Formats: sequence, C-alpha cells, structure tokens
Amino acid sequence: MVLQVRGIVLPEREERSFWIDGDRLREEPVAHADVVMDGGWLLPGLVDVHTHPGTEEIGTPLDDEVLRKHLIDHRDAGVLLVRTPGSAGRIPKWVDKDPQLPRVRSAGPWLATPGRFFPGHGRDVTEAELVAAAVEEATASSGWCKVIGDWDPNNPPVPLEILTAVVQAVHAVGGKVAVHCQTADGCRNAVTAGADSLEHGMHLDHGLIDRMAAQGTALVPTISVFEAGAQRAQTREPSPRRDWFLSGWRGMSATVRAAHEAGVTVLAGTDSFPCGTVAEEAQWLARYGMSPEAAVGAASWTARSWLGMPGLVDGAPADLVAYDADPTADVSVLAHPKRVILRGEVVV
Ligand SMILES: [Zn+2]
Repeated sequence: MVLQVRGIVLPEREERSFWIDGDRLREEPVAHADVVMDGGWLLPGLVDVHTHPGTEEIGTPLDDEVLRKHLIDHRDAGVLLVRTPGSAGRIPKWVDKDPQLPRVRSAGPWLATPGRFFPGHGRDVTEAELVAAAVEEATASSGWCKVIGDWDPNNPPVPLEILTAVVQAVHAVGGKVAVHCQTADGCRNAVTAGADSLEHGMHLDHGLIDRMAAQGTALVPTISVFEAGAQRAQTREPSPRRDWFLSGWRGMSATVRAAHEAGVTVLAGTDSFPCGTVAEEAQWLARYGMSPEAAVGAASWTARSWLGMPGLVDGAPADLVAYDADPTADVSVLAHPKRVILRGEVVV
C-alpha cells in the first residue's frame, strides 16, 4: 500500500505532498494512497549525532539487547538517524540489516591513550598506535572514528602532531574524525589538527571559532549531559576539578552562540540516557542562543545533510517526522511527533 503525507515541509516552508513507496519519497501522485498525515508540519527524521547506544554502565561490554532497546527508544521519539562517536566495541553489522532500527553512522570504540578516558571502556591504545587504530576503526565502521583528545585538565591533551597525523591518515582513506575535547588545550589541538567535529568543546578559545567555520569543523556541545553534570557539581564542596567543570559549563552558552553566529555547524547530540531525548537537546541549543529554526535544524535537516543524507525531496529515503504544530515556533513541540515514518513504515 502506498502511503501519502501532506503538510508544510521544513526548512523550505512549502506545502507539499509525498507518496511513500517502500523506502522512497515520491512527489508524483499515486491514486488510492493511504493518507497518514493530512496537514501539519513535515520534517526530515530527527538526528542525534552524539549517542552511545549499547551499554549504560562504564566498563560493561556492548550488549545486543541493550543496543536494540536504545535504538528503538531513539526511533520511537522520531530519531531516525544516529551517529555513535564511540561505543563499547564496534556496532555489529546486524544493526544495518534490521529495518526497524534507525540508520546508524558508527565510529567504532572510543580510542583512548593512557591516562585519558575510563580504562578498558573503549579501545586502549598507546600514542604510537593511535594513527593506525584510527584508520582501522574508521575503515571498519561507517567512516568515523572517535579520539579522546583530552581528559584530566591537569594532564596534557593528545599531542598536536599525533592528532594531526590521525586526521590526515583518516581523511586519506575517506574517513572522518570526531575528537572529545573539554580543555582549552584539547580544543585547540582538535581545531588545529583539522578534526571534523569537536565533541563537547568545553573551554574552547573563541579565537578558534573562525577557523572552525572556515575549515568545516562542527561543534557538538552535548549540553544535556553538561547541564545534568552541573546540577550534581553545584551540590558538591568546592574543589579545583569542580570549579574547572563549572567554569567550563558556564562558558558553553557563549561558545554555542558565538560558534553559531560565526557560521560553525552546531549540532544536537545528547550523550546521555535514556536514548530518544534529542528534542531536549534542541531546546538547550535554543536556550543557549541559537534561533529556534537553527536549533530544530541541528536535530534534523542540518544534521542529516552533515551526515550525507537528503532532506524531504523526491527520491529521498522515506524517513520523516510530522507534527501538528510548527516546532520552529516552539521547539518543545519537537518532543511530540504526531507521526514517525522510518524507511516508509509508520512507526508512530
Ligand atoms: Zn560521548
């Protein structure tokens, strides 16, 4: 049965109809289609570009059942494409073959050099092994790899020459590099090395923002997880680490606003559980100073385009979310899709 949807398409703001034939959107009318959305707003499927499905406890291995549950949680919230910048093992191939699950762009396990990250949770490598490991993971996954670029504010980040060699080697095989950074030196090295995305970007020197925009380095601030961390930190006794965290968190709003205004691609990633909360992250992006339209795009069409997927056009994969109200007028609307269609099948 061919399905039909009609509504105002975002971000174009044009009223259109699509006929859904299998996993393809078509603009050519088909008679006797089953109308599953008539009016309202139509968006390309939501996207979470920073999520770690498959394990919730640090140190536990990737679990197939947990992985499936997390991906279903995303899907039911309208999140139909995710990027996994680090996981407790490689995302297994069966995920791509299960039509009920969102599309996944994986990066393999976190690549952690000594003293950076939780030992044993990602793939522990020496600095000398990092370049080869990054190429290996980008090749084995959907083209991404994830490097823990810094960790403790008292310890140095991954040296610039090593991170630069990682980016060059991964780009040479057609891959992309996501870098965890939460210190000023770590952010500087990630930008200077030419990373494709800064994950978190706390304590980012704003003097680097124009370079990010020019070279196409995206910022994924994962505000949700920092807001939750700040709530906890504020109840603790002052300590150098607590104060470092809170001062970084307080600066993130200005960083998001400055990056967005300078033309950096700022995207929505939750980095937290439960899965399926990217709508909340979009609200944080708006509260931090992005326009509502840009904040919604960061969790939908902008992120899809950044991951190489089209918006709602003839011939595109049939992944869409539909709303009764305009989410760019009120970003909180994004959490309540009226319809979710994944690969041409009605999910919600
Ligand atoms: Zn993360």
